[in-house]
Amino acid sequence: MDWLFGRQTPTFLICVLFQLTAFPGKCKLVVKQPNRTLTGQMKKLHFVQTRGTASAIFVLIFTNSQLSAAQDAVGRRLTMEALALERKAEQNRELRERLLQLKKERNAIILAHYYQRDEIQEVADFRGDSFLLAQKAAATDADVIVFCGVHFMGESAKILAPHKTVLVPDERAGCPMADMVNPIGLRELKAKHPNAKVVTYINSSADVKAETDICCTSANAIKVVNSVDSDEVIWCPDKNLGHYVAQHTDKKMIIWEGYCNTHDMLTVKDVVEMRAKHPNAQFVVHPECRPEVVEMADFVGSTTGILKYCKESDCKEFIVGTEDGTGYQLRVDSPDKTFHFASKFLVCPNMKVNNLKKVVRALETMQPQIYVPEDVANKARLSLERMLLVK
Ligand code: SF4
Repeated sequence: MDWLFGRQTPTFLICVLFQLTAFPGKCKLVVKQPNRTLTGQMKKLHFVQTRGTASAIFVLIFTNSQLSAAQDAVGRRLTMEALALERKAEQNRELRERLLQLKKERNAIILAHYYQRDEIQEVADFRGDSFLLAQKAAATDADVIVFCGVHFMGESAKILAPHKTVLVPDERAGCPMADMVNPIGLRELKAKHPNAKVVTYINSSADVKAETDICCTSANAIKVVNSVDSDEVIWCPDKNLGHYVAQHTDKKMIIWEGYCNTHDMLTVKDVVEMRAKHPNAQFVVHPECRPEVVEMADFVGSTTGILKYCKESDCKEFIVGTEDGTGYQLRVDSPDKTFHFASKFLVCPNMKVNNLKKVVRALETMQPQIYVPEDVANKARLSLERMLLVK
């Protein structure tokens, strides 16, 4: 029934319902085991009628003609989808060949964040989280870096590798959380708390990093906060990560009210439902999620931390509470394990703005490039370098 009603036109449904309601209790529609193969064929269709023969026959004839129309439509749609997939695969093959050629010509490398589309992660020279990739950018011999992530990540690469050309596939790929704090607001907060040190999450703009004493990542946030020589810490911009850190430090945390739109979307209800569906799975979560969600986790960690935990764990099934692009590396690391993303909303639209075509175009045109004014870069670099000294 489910399949039948799911695929039929409203007119057909109204006619069937009319027949069933016009002769209540006199005719019964039974659909057995709809075959869900590509052709959309039904295995068996019975009309069992008690009285009211004319009506039942009418429904039967009507149903059969509607079913064949539906089968044709399903078949046509599936053929179109298969053709579109084939076309896309062919285009990607051509793009990958062009990319290899351009990388050689420009002496370029491709860095891809774990949240990028699979088609980008597949061609990347390095995959990683934001800081690991910035370190790779600083250490590479390449002249050109194509940074596939969001804008602040390209900036961090440029700050650490100022003499290299840093390209991003699409300059519209921003981070809403990074945009929730600006240098003016931060300076005002610093004026109110003159004894506090500013610890800023790496997910922030170069301007904000320049106003910062020390940066951190989600992997080293607790260590960094505990390392500063003040009792008070101004923390920005992610309130959720800030609350998590506050549970692991004696410092007084003054927390900025920013958040990641994607991770903040995950709710307790989502996790409860997923746990009911997958009772043997462990729940792993990123601390950018809400505190009440983080509390439910079997493991809390950065993206890199989650990848490592899932790879090394004896558990075979996980409910994952972070951006869905991570699935690519999870599957590469642990092909024998099963991963369920905790919500269909765990997709960062900003990360997904980039695609393979844009990566190729960036290398062809050498645009868009990341620029950071020298004075800003010099100050921001200090906050990143101080972080590196924290062991
Ligand atoms: S996942 Fe969240 S923090 Fe990361 S880029 Fe998207 S909005 Fe920003």
